[in-house]
Amino acid sequence: MNGDFINVCYLLTAVTFMLALKLMNGPKTARLGNLLAACGMALAIAATFFIKDENGESLGNLPWIALAFLLGSFLGAWSARRVQMTAMPQMVALFNGLGGGAVALVALVEYPHLFAGNFVKSVPLVTTVLSLVIGSVSFSGSMIAYGKLQELLTGRPITWPGQKFINFALFIAVVAVVAFLMNGVPSVSLLYGLLGMALLLGVTLVLPIGGADMPVVISLLNSFTGCAAGLAGFVLDNTALLIGGGLVGASGLILTLEMCKAMNRPLSNVIFGAFGGGNAAGALESSGKSGTVRSYSVEDAAIIFSSANSVIIVPGYGMAVAQAQHVVKELAEKLAARDIDVKYAIHPVAGRMPGHMNVLLAEADVPYEQLFDLDEINSEFPQTDVALVIGANDVVNPAARYDKASPIYGMPILDVDKARTVIVSKRSMSPGFAGIDNELFINPNTIMVFGNAKITIAKLSAALDAL
Ligand code: NDP
Repeated sequence: MNGDFINVCYLLTAVTFMLALKLMNGPKTARLGNLLAACGMALAIAATFFIKDENGESLGNLPWIALAFLLGSFLGAWSARRVQMTAMPQMVALFNGLGGGAVALVALVEYPHLFAGNFVKSVPLVTTVLSLVIGSVSFSGSMIAYGKLQELLTGRPITWPGQKFINFALFIAVVAVVAFLMNGVPSVSLLYGLLGMALLLGVTLVLPIGGADMPVVISLLNSFTGCAAGLAGFVLDNTALLIGGGLVGASGLILTLEMCKAMNRPLSNVIFGAFGGGNAAGALESSGKSGTVRSYSVEDAAIIFSSANSVIIVPGYGMAVAQAQHVVKELAEKLAARDIDVKYAIHPVAGRMPGHMNVLLAEADVPYEQLFDLDEINSEFPQTDVALVIGANDVVNPAARYDKASPIYGMPILDVDKARTVIVSKRSMSPGFAGIDNELFINPNTIMVFGNAKITIAKLSAALDAL
């Protein structure tokens, strides 16, 4: 009876998770999806408190579990409310790493229990060892990713002599120890050794990844944690954990592959390529490109807009930092009122998280019909009068097309440089996330309007009114 009750609760949880994933497909319903998933998780946790073993005994340490639950919920809610939108990736990395670490701890605790009876349970043994490895890699890898995104470590790839060989040797050593432990010879000390090796592997795997490849590695680590949690579901015989982990693992993997497609980079190249070690800041000089920066006032820029027939707005991370989405929408409305055709071009990795620009523009109620993906809009730039780049940098860097030493080489970019005039709103000539110069800013058809994007765009709107 008790088992049936728990299973029905877990089934309901699984249904809420699936519906939530569906709702998270669009910004309008994402909030509801998140709430639904949180309710499902609360139900699963509440049900777990009522689990009884075959002797009718409740779980031990219930007050401690309740305390950990309350503490974790408080810290999670508090940090989620405080976090800046632009710091979301590091928060995702941190939470994801903690999930992986928790799974590794479960495996460490459960391992000795597998040898308590007269025979070793082989399925839980396999899943326990694997969840320890994957959870640990995910934990340490996510902590390094957090350090890079929080700028505690350099965001550029960190490599060392023989790095690929050392990583490969470490990987083989981990596989060998896993195979040995799966044979059923109990060895807690070897398990701790495996833990150390897996933690090291997570570090050495993520350190050489940097620049524009970070979004891919974050979603890959997310997928690792999901898989590890799914395996922990086997270890603990917990259906909710198994299904939830499986969903996170699968959706994380799909997102990873989508991101790889967007970056035009095979996954193997992201993980083992140590891309971005070469041509960094100063790339303009080293590639022999030089030119003059044309800095215009907002009033001059407004005159260019007033005579345009078509404008494509290209938002990037700087728009998020400046929280300029509302003034951007106002400007777009003013342009449309002058019969100017206005569209928004959305790059898949613009900003600092998948869908970042879509979320911001949805928040400002920009109609969906005006948003266009890279594939849909790129062919329109040559016929466009003005491409207005607002705080975007890497996603409009022409070096991605031809400079093989560039950290973003091969990534499809928005072809803004092909528009008749490019107007760029940013504060300085500083590089973006990948840390590289951008020749777009010295192109003859580019005009820079320096300043905080929110202030610049608001002034541009006002200047347009005055014309
Ligand atoms: P970038 O990071 O390339 O550039 C952002 C630009 O915004 C900077 O050059 C900065 O220049 C400018 N900026 C910052 N603050 C302001 C402000 N207040 N007002 C005006 N401008 C401002 O952004 P992109 O969106 O072009 O590219 C995203 C990058 O982030 C890619 O390399 C991507 O791979 C990476 N990334 C993406 C993730 C994702 O999931 N989308 C996750 C992690 C990384 P200045 O200082 O001169 O103002």
